[in-house]
Amino acid sequence: MSTQEGKTCSKKNADTHCEGKNVAKHALRSSLDRIKHKIVVLSGKGGVGKSTVAVNLAQALAMSGKLTGLLDVDVHGPSLPRLLSLRGERPQLDAGRLEPINAGPNLWVMSLGFLLSSEREAVVWRGPAKMKMIKQFLLDVIWRDLDFLVVDCPPGTGDEPLSVLQLLGPEAKALIVTTPQGVAVDDVRRSVTFCTELGNPVLGLVENMSGHHCSHCGQVDNIFGSGGGETLAEEMGVPLLGKIPLDPEMVRAGDEGFAFLRVHSEGPTAQAMNRIIAPILAMATNPVGTSSLT
Ligand code: ADP
Repeated sequence: MSTQEGKTCSKKNADTHCEGKNVAKHALRSSLDRIKHKIVVLSGKGGVGKSTVAVNLAQALAMSGKLTGLLDVDVHGPSLPRLLSLRGERPQLDAGRLEPINAGPNLWVMSLGFLLSSEREAVVWRGPAKMKMIKQFLLDVIWRDLDFLVVDCPPGTGDEPLSVLQLLGPEAKALIVTTPQGVAVDDVRRSVTFCTELGNPVLGLVENMSGHHCSHCGQVDNIFGSGGGETLAEEMGVPLLGKIPLDPEMVRAGDEGFAFLRVHSEGPTAQAMNRIIAPILAMATNPVGTSSLT
């Protein structure tokens, strides 16, 4: 006997229900097996540049010829359509499944933002509904064979990152974005513990908005302090992948709706980002287990 929505089911119904669940589980597994590397971008709090890092990581992987999916699971404030000039796009339905939006060579994007009727539409969902939506984004989106799926999670350690890591399983690796301020450091500490407890490896930390390179004298001004990323990385036993400077061009790229790395390949910011991305890119070429990050 089992109960479903408060009703008592017969054994036959219960068996059918369990069978259905197993089929869904199997379908999710086969869908995920077609994606070689799953990178989940997390941050302890909002506004640290997590979506910016996710967008640039996905763009750089795509520009390097890797088939890349970018999934935004922020139910309450999906930002990827805006960051990639994809506002107003509507995914096509194919046999009940959604085609991700193509955002240029090798890059496919899915976000709840594509499905909301307006940007002002408030989404009031509880945990189980969020889990269901995220499951559909993994199962009912036609991702096909991908080298990388980059998932941009809302800040914190709530329902969305929990669902993403649970559904993707322990092979999903986390990239945690922080800023140099002490308060962000405390929040990120929680993100690292969260991943460790769920059994997901942390690829490393990215310290964003880390110092400002003066375009006139080249000197670095550490506006938000310095050393937070190193201290935290050392304390938590995870690598510090790199530091991205505070750069007004990054704000402009976000506001105008393109990935910074799509147009910038030179300068301290592009170099810092490419240094962070290089070992992730290497995961696609090195046999599993031999990359410095796996
Ligand atoms: P989050 O996803 O953590 O909420 P966003 O990626 O939306 O943060 O970034 C928040 C704001 O900070 C955006 O306006 C973005 O353009 C800006 N930003 C992100 N990284 C940098 C940077 N390195 N230099 C300057 N501005 C940045």
